[in-house]
Amino acid sequence: MSEKKFLMGNHAIARGAAEAGATVVAGYPGTPASEIVEDYVQYPGAYVEWAANEKVATEIAIGGSLCNQRSLAVMKHNGTNVATDFIMHLNFTGVKGGMVLLSADDPGANSSQNEEDTRILVHTYGHLPVFDPSTPAEAKAMIKDAYELSEKTELCFVLRPVMRICHARSIIELEPLPDKLREPSLENDRSRYVMSAVAEPAYGGTLRPVIRHRWLNQKQEELSAIMEESPYNWIEEGEGEVGLVGCGIGYSYIKEALEIAGKKLPILKLGTLPLPRQKVIQFLRSVKKVLVYEEVEPVVARMLREIAYTEGIEVEVLGRDNFLPPEGEMSATYVLKSLGQVVPSFKDDLPFAHEPIPVPTRIRSQCVGCPYRGMLHALKTTIRKNKGIVTGDIGCHDAGSFAPMEVQSTIYCMGSSIPMAIGMAKTGIDRPIYAMIGDSTLFHNGIIGLLDAIYNQANVTVIINDNRTTAMTGFQPHPGSEVNVRGEEAPYMHIDKIASAMGAKVYYIEPYDIEATKNTFLEAAKEPGTKVVIAKAPCFLRSSRLGIKTFPERVVKVDPERCNGCKVCINDFGCPALIFKDGKVHIDEATCVHCGLCADVCKRGAIK
Ligand code: SF4
Ligand code: SF4
Ligand code: SF4
Repeated sequence: MSEKKFLMGNHAIARGAAEAGATVVAGYPGTPASEIVEDYVQYPGAYVEWAANEKVATEIAIGGSLCNQRSLAVMKHNGTNVATDFIMHLNFTGVKGGMVLLSADDPGANSSQNEEDTRILVHTYGHLPVFDPSTPAEAKAMIKDAYELSEKTELCFVLRPVMRICHARSIIELEPLPDKLREPSLENDRSRYVMSAVAEPAYGGTLRPVIRHRWLNQKQEELSAIMEESPYNWIEEGEGEVGLVGCGIGYSYIKEALEIAGKKLPILKLGTLPLPRQKVIQFLRSVKKVLVYEEVEPVVARMLREIAYTEGIEVEVLGRDNFLPPEGEMSATYVLKSLGQVVPSFKDDLPFAHEPIPVPTRIRSQCVGCPYRGMLHALKTTIRKNKGIVTGDIGCHDAGSFAPMEVQSTIYCMGSSIPMAIGMAKTGIDRPIYAMIGDSTLFHNGIIGLLDAIYNQANVTVIINDNRTTAMTGFQPHPGSEVNVRGEEAPYMHIDKIASAMGAKVYYIEPYDIEATKNTFLEAAKEPGTKVVIAKAPCFLRSSRLGIKTFPERVVKVDPERCNGCKVCINDFGCPALIFKDGKVHIDEATCVHCGLCADVCKRGAIK
């Protein structure tokens, strides 16, 4: 009898890969996908690593695949952007051992800097097949099938769960793990794996990339036939002439909405790209109008219109580009509201089909006791004095860009702070330029920007927040953590030695010493060329969970006689344990962790 467990979607996916025998697993942390790599260390016989970035993870995975191992590369959607350069080559070469690239999308940008749709990059551009799961159990089944099909077609398969699949929990059936793993072996096939514009005599001198492109195009027919028979696509009968198309999680929202409404409409459930063309044609012919529910872009809606047009089917296709809200995350309410506008028997006042109840807006801030708060305060007062500009990067410190701190002027994507600072500095603008980046982001790809800054002699001060962990995504280790994904000791990459070897002048700051930190920021900016200021302080939250003290405790109190309500400690510092009430500041003893920094911030001596 098989075992059943209540698992998170990410753990179900890891289990599916393990049951399929994946033995090379690499990824870069990013919500909502982070738990997959962490969870995988429990499975015997597998090599698992946190890679420096997503491109590296993908390259590692195909290295394993070429040695006839099943492999997995794990990332979130904007990490897939980083890996895309390599993906646009591995699609031409194909794979040997089954390979799955997992790219988790975050519709609604619940924990991301942007919203995007992995399907466009990997399928529309890269022509790779995609599985789009509607439940955690289906995600597990899909990843297992993906390995079989990857070996059958020699193509890397992409699994694209969205956040609600990754983080949902459900009953998952466990099947046995393989009792025997494959021996690694490499067959040299340079005509495939050496990607170069070389003429191939066997093909009349056609250049190799063109031959491989042709191979990829020819594979599409094979994929279409496979998807026609796929168990992840089906039609459900219903009443009326309005059909619903549910892609991945969109199908789950449709089912939930129809259950709430107590109605039965025709449904086409889709979980694959390419689409099952014949099934689509059959469905489109059976209705007059279809609504396509998909995250995030109208990829399938546009495909359906193209099929309807070429097949001469008169059907109206309503999708996220011409009817449904084009941005944000879907839900059952989203489905009900849209149906209320199209299907007469659906009323707008159906249960749950109304606006969500307003809840207080969450303010982005660092934890109480976080070393970044002292550093950000010092930087804020520095740039107030010297008119400096700060380009920011991804990490806990990015909360410093929001009110009330408002230190960083820009935040784009991983590693962009330093190159953007170079660009600003090279305009000749007469203001000091600071770039602020965390340690994990520096190793991810910020180091290239640092190299560029030093080589091109940019007058930039690079502040590196070295807290020895990838704090924002759940404390995953990186090359500066001294441990690997299994918690085993690993070589330590010294950021200061790396920066110094590149030729940068290195400064050190203790972020709990605000005055000294400010002076270092001022001094560094006066030096010509690229300077590196390293704020070495462990993440307070992680340290406190481990019972490690990161600062000497200072129990402080507010003297109401001295507090004049100037709000400097609120607006320029913003510790969540400081409360402004009745014109005075108060300390919330329940949340204060006694770092004592607020006493250094208040120049009136009201906090002691
Ligand atoms: S998790 Fe760590 S680094 Fe991030 S805000 Fe909290 S204390 Fe600071
Ligand atoms: S505690 Fe100090 S900084 Fe804060 S409002 Fe009072 S006087 Fe101003
Ligand atoms: S001592 Fe001050 S800054 Fe530190 S946690 Fe308490 S209130 Fe916040």
